[in-house]
Amino acid sequence: MKQIPFFSLNVDHNDKKAIMKSLSNNWLSMGPQTLIFEKKFAELIKTSKVNCVATSSCTASLHMTLLSLNLQKDDEVILPSLTFVADINTVIFAGGKPVLADINSTSDLTISAENIEKKITKKTKVVIIVHYAGYECDMKKILELKKKYKFFLIEDACHALVSKYKKTYLGLLGDVGVFSFYSNKNMTTGEGGMIVSKNKKFLHDMRSIRNHGISKSLIERNKSILSYNIIKPGLNYRIDDLRATLGISQIRKLKKK
Ligand SMILES: *Cc1c(COP(=O)(O)O)cnc(C)c1O
Repeated sequence: MKQIPFFSLNVDHNDKKAIMKSLSNNWLSMGPQTLIFEKKFAELIKTSKVNCVATSSCTASLHMTLLSLNLQKDDEVILPSLTFVADINTVIFAGGKPVLADINSTSDLTISAENIEKKITKKTKVVIIVHYAGYECDMKKILELKKKYKFFLIEDACHALVSKYKKTYLGLLGDVGVFSFYSNKNMTTGEGGMIVSKNKKFLHDMRSIRNHGISKSLIERNKSILSYNIIKPGLNYRIDDLRATLGISQIRKLKKK
């Protein structure tokens, strides 16, 4: 029987060199390299650098996104029956009620737009779609449904880095797109994730939830450690600069393909 490996890493000399250089930067946790990583990721998917927030994983990205929506008891979140378990786990932890929609078929593993519509109720607040195995969901129909029912649309684009629908990169079509840089994804930082959105207020919230609810970035705090505010409850969902450096190097490689 042919065995399919769980992952096959592509870490080369340049990646190693980048990490060694980062080790000498005197800054290991989230800092300047993370800002560069966010900027380079934005360039990769052709969006503005202010639209990207790097995180410790896609699970963290999903959890923070769902927390920011303040789901109330019985608020429903529709998601595909076939996906990685992080989608449903984070819905449960954010206090939402998961509602599974079927996928299209065994030859089209993406969520069925018809089935999403069947599952929509007055309580539906969010729909999570997954571009399974890099194939785009039925975006035409799903965007029509979004317009009609006004739900918040999260694109789990973990499998679909640099894939497009028409001329737009996947992850930029809904309200929020989330990516993972776990070892078996198209590019890796070991552990890591990204949130992309055009909603400035939402991204501002993401930056503070990622960092304990603190109003200032770590770079700002480094300049003046005494003055900062806690603007809301937060978590530690930061990526660190070593991983960010690896991410920058992996993007460079991805761009050459
Ligand atoms: C890998 C994956 C996740 C979780 O990513 P982590 O970075 O490991 O938290 C979520 N959704 C899908 C579709 C994935 O493939």
